Order: sequence, then C-alpha cells, then structure tokens
Amino acid sequence: STPTAPSDTDAPASAALLARARAVTPGGVNSPVRAFRSVGGTPRFMVRGAGPYLTDADGTEYVDLVGSWGPMILGHAHPAVLDAVYDAASRGTSFGTPSENEVALAEEIVARIGPVDQVRLVSSGTEATMSAIRLARGFTGRPLVVKFAGHYHGHVDSLLVAAGSGVATLALPDSAGVPAQMAAETLVLPFNDVEALEAVFAARGDQIACVITEAAAGNMGVVTPQPGFTEALRRVTAEHGALLVTDEVMTGFRCSRAGWWGYEGVDVTPDLMTFGKVMGGGFPAAAFGGRADVMALLAPDGPVYQAGTLSGNPVATAAGLTTLQHCDDAVYARLDEVSRTISAAASSALAAAGVPHRVQHASSMFSVFFREGEVRDYDDARDQDTAAFGRFFHAMLSAGVYLPPSAFECWFVSAAHDDAAVQRILDALPAAAAAAAG
Ligand code: PLP
Repeated sequence: STPTAPSDTDAPASAALLARARAVTPGGVNSPVRAFRSVGGTPRFMVRGAGPYLTDADGTEYVDLVGSWGPMILGHAHPAVLDAVYDAASRGTSFGTPSENEVALAEEIVARIGPVDQVRLVSSGTEATMSAIRLARGFTGRPLVVKFAGHYHGHVDSLLVAAGSGVATLALPDSAGVPAQMAAETLVLPFNDVEALEAVFAARGDQIACVITEAAAGNMGVVTPQPGFTEALRRVTAEHGALLVTDEVMTGFRCSRAGWWGYEGVDVTPDLMTFGKVMGGGFPAAAFGGRADVMALLAPDGPVYQAGTLSGNPVATAAGLTTLQHCDDAVYARLDEVSRTISAAASSALAAAGVPHRVQHASSMFSVFFREGEVRDYDDARDQDTAAFGRFFHAMLSAGVYLPPSAFECWFVSAAHDDAAVQRILDALPAAAAAAAG
C-alpha cells in the first residue's frame, strides 16, 4: 500500500479535488509546501475558516496552527476585518491611483517601526525583498548580497540559494532555473557565525551591497540571532559601507506590536526592512521601508525603478490597516500565553514519550525540532528526525489539529485561539507524541 492511502480514506473530497487540481496545476498546489510532500498523505482543501478553526472539503474541522503561514494573527474571518473588506470592496476593488488607505497603512507602519522613515507598499513578501535588494544595490552601486543559509526571503532568483521554507522541506540545495551568474552574486553564510561574516567582508567588503537576514529566522524552524549577532551585522556592514536589510515579513507585527525589532530590547537599527503577512490581514499586501535617504532613490523621486498594478490595493490595505489597528497589547498578551501553553504541553508530551526534541521561540513564534540540543543554524536544523515529525503531524491531523506540514516551519497561533481551541490541541498531543516515538 502507498503511504498516502490512510489519509485518502479520511479525506475523500480533498483527494478528489487534488486529482482535479493535478490535471491543471503542477503538483495540484499553488505553493509547494501545501502539497504535503515531506509528510505524505492528502493535502486538505479548505472551504472555511472561522476564528482558530479551519474546515475542509469533507466537513472535518481542525484547530489551525498555520494561520495562512502568518497573516491570520486575529484568527480567520475576524468581524472587524471583514467589515473593512466589505466596505472597501463596495467602493471599488482597484483604482490604479493613489488612495487614502495606502497612506493610513503606511502611517501605521512608520508609527510602529522606529527605523522606518518611509515605506513603499507591494503585494508579496517576495516583491518586498526583491525590491529592497535592488534599492540596496542602487544606493551602494555594488553587486553582491550576503544571505544566511536556511533563511527564506521569498522566491527571488538571487535569494533562492540555500533557502529555507519549501526549499528546505523539499530538500533542494537550490532552485533550477537560477543562472549561475546570479547565484554567484549571493554569498551564503552560516547564521550566527560572526567569524564567517568578518571573513567575507574582509575579502569582498567593497563589493557587498547589503546583508539580508531574517530578523529572527522562522523558515528553518525558529532560530533567533545569538546575543550580539545582529549587533555584529550592524557593525560590520557599517564599517564597509554596506546596508543591513532585516526581513520582518514573518516576524513583523507578530513578535511585538513592531516586530522582532522592538521586542524585548532588540534595538539594532537596520537601513531597510521588509514586511508582509500580518500587515495584509490575509490579503496580498507587503512593504519595504527604512532610511529616508535610501528610500529617496526609488522612482518616481529617484532612479531605482519599482512598481505594481495592485500595489496599495484598496481592499488589501483596508484589511491590513484594520488588522494592525486591532493588534493591541491584549492581542500580544494572548499570543504569548497561547504559544507558551501549547509549546510547553508539546514538550512535556514528547518528553513523556521519550522523543528527542527541542522547542525554540522568537516571542510567540515557536517551532519544535525533532532533535536534542540548541539549533543555531541550518546545519543544526537539518539534523533532525523528519520521519518522527511526519508521524506526529499525521496523528495531530487525525485528531483535528492542523500543523504546518513540514518540520522546518514554525507554528502560528492567533489571538482567536481561545481556551477551548487550546484544549483540543493539548488533548491531541500525548497520542501524537506516542506516534512520533514510533
Ligand atoms: N521573507 C520571509 C521571512 C518569509 O517568511 C516569506 C514567506 O514565507 C517571504 C519573505 C516571502 O513572502 P511571500 O510568500 O509573501 O512572497
């Protein structure tokens, strides 16, 4: 029998949709990790989201710990976000002109994030990092970009080198289709390694436009910068006239009301930052921003071109602005509480079942590595028992908990995870831990 058989019988409607999808879409999915390749089984086709719950095409309800990979910080179908969306949509869904919500969303971002003087709105995190890099190259007149192994910045050609997230899940070294010359302009370093950083700058510092880093990594599981590492990035880039770009697409507006920047004394000031996910409230909206003198180089004021038909879309900006306006202290306190409760329970269940594991947090973002010992970089993250994770994942799925279908992704909670939803997760953990033990 094939490994997918048990799940197919659990989810016949999803299996039928997958068969239809595969005929017209590669792998049947529009983003690779959704396909369940590393855990096996049938990806669930969802038909509804409400608060902390998702319902699939077979009518099975799950407590959601993916949250659309980050955006759904208030839970699904939040009433205030829906009202803002209906209100905006009823007045027209895209103008191709400036409109007030774009200004209000930019003001909200600038007000929350100290290092951001100016911001430009785009439609995806990929566009944000791609544009930030173009701007850094335009500002410095230099070609090279430094990134860290296991960090994912979207599917920008030059950043698909030793990338995390789906690239890690599928165990691809790099993507086909990225020309060698382009990959050669990206220097990949191990995360949290100051010596490697200093060595690469000593050798090629006058050619390096920027260092781009996930502010706290979430795409190889959660790996925070070691104390002093971000400070070292700031010092070394400044010494060599390169820019520091921190990617807060995942951490922004989630780790704190600002992001990783602004969380418990994290105060290194980058030159440019990128945002996405939460700031779109479940719609395609993202941004890059930073120092006014760097942002001044963007068209139409400056020579670095960047544009988008749907950039600043009135419905997306309404959803994002309303989401941010609802992200108050009570939301962050709830995220923290839910994240601590779930991660502590997962850890005790795995410990009781004798499964080697390690939980790492970046504020309320957390992930469970199926290995012992601290994870500081991509080599550590890859050194885990992904088969044990697969068994754990499927046991949780059968018990009605939807985890990210990969050992390299973090678990996203929302402020809508009430005590009943959390209890369903806690109830599912012991059997899943036993399944992981094999
Ligand atoms: N940067 C980071 C840190 C991300 O986590 C992601 C997506 O997961 C991206 C960039 C790319 O964003 P998008 O998927 O919206 O293109």
